[in-house]
Amino acid sequence: MSDTKAIFTGDRCLSCTSCMANCPVMAAIKDYRGPKLVGPAHGRMHFSQEDVEESLNYCSNCKSCDRACPSGVAVSTLNMLQRAEYYKTHPHLRSEDMLAHGERMANLIRKIPFGATFSNLGMSIGKALGVFSALGIAGERNMPAYAATPFKDAFGSIKQQPSNKKVVLFTGCYINDNEPHVGNAFVKVFNANGYEVLIDRQFKCCGSPLVVTGFLDEARSHADNNVARILDWKRQNIPVVSPCTSCSLMLKEEYHELFGDDKFHEAATNVYDAFEFLELLEERGEFNDNFKPLNQKLLYHVPCHLKSQAIGLPAADILEEVGGVKVQLADAGCCGISGNYGFRKDKYEISMKIGAKLFERVKQGGFDKVICDCGTCRMQIHHGTDVKPVHPIEILAAAYA
Ligand code: SF4
Ligand code: SF4
Repeated sequence: MSDTKAIFTGDRCLSCTSCMANCPVMAAIKDYRGPKLVGPAHGRMHFSQEDVEESLNYCSNCKSCDRACPSGVAVSTLNMLQRAEYYKTHPHLRSEDMLAHGERMANLIRKIPFGATFSNLGMSIGKALGVFSALGIAGERNMPAYAATPFKDAFGSIKQQPSNKKVVLFTGCYINDNEPHVGNAFVKVFNANGYEVLIDRQFKCCGSPLVVTGFLDEARSHADNNVARILDWKRQNIPVVSPCTSCSLMLKEEYHELFGDDKFHEAATNVYDAFEFLELLEERGEFNDNFKPLNQKLLYHVPCHLKSQAIGLPAADILEEVGGVKVQLADAGCCGISGNYGFRKDKYEISMKIGAKLFERVKQGGFDKVICDCGTCRMQIHHGTDVKPVHPIEILAAAYA
């Protein structure tokens, strides 16, 4: 299995430039030398701390290059590995430290009485006073507001029927801290399919924000922790399911590409995207399709990190089964935010330029709701259009009476 670790894939590069033709950042900014040059070429020739490829900083880890590559080169992960080398000899900016450690920040805030309320107020004031901009965070953006109660704290009050069919919900940071209603919808949908939902408070952030900001040792420690938990659930025959496509991609694929141990492959066999799991139930004839009609036209922005999982579009397939629901694909490429990338002051304009085609499509209208499985894509669409998208599982939850 070791040949799927990213550093072993660079030698497969054919120099075909397909990755460059499909890189949204390269199309948006001329200073970026592009995935072939900063990924396999640079990695293969050098991959050292001394030899730095400055334009690597532009890569957003959207993974469009990986999907375009005919040779299976893990271009984006090569980029992230080299970025981590860079930060061994260069200090992180304060904005990078803040954006990489959203989970740490949320935990600190939760320890203060009314911390979420004060923090949300503080973020609004901070934005108005230009504090975020001074720290290197895009002043145009609203930071995601903290929910009054995180999902994991409210979870115990959700009433569920006990069942011998169980899944563990991997909430990820965004659903836990900012959008717990998505977690509630997940529980409703899985309960309707006869599953009892568990949570595991020992899970940490999947590590995606750490990887893209070059905190690779910390990401490795999160990966070791999370994989130990996933393997423990696997021994109990209980799958781990995530409604966040960036979390599920990290757990299923990126851990192994980055770190190589076979345990990451083994753990990946026990991790599912939420709608991937529901589609598997359907294939086994175990899916509850007793829906009430909804009569909604949905515009679906498919996140890059779902496309990278190569599992098709299970959310669209399932939602089309609800009476009166029509799903139309936005088909407008990357939204441009790529996790915390678009929150960086120096990347904001690139991020908005990449998202322009999608914003245009959303502004054309002709739908009732926009759906998207990724929390940061939802933020970007809201920011670029004033249309607030929902997670597809919220639509499915509404279809179960
Ligand atoms: S991950 Fe995205 S931004 Fe980075 S090189 Fe690949 S296509 Fe370009
Ligand atoms: S698409 Fe793959 S093979 Fe082609 S240049 Fe890029 S990394 Fe090399």
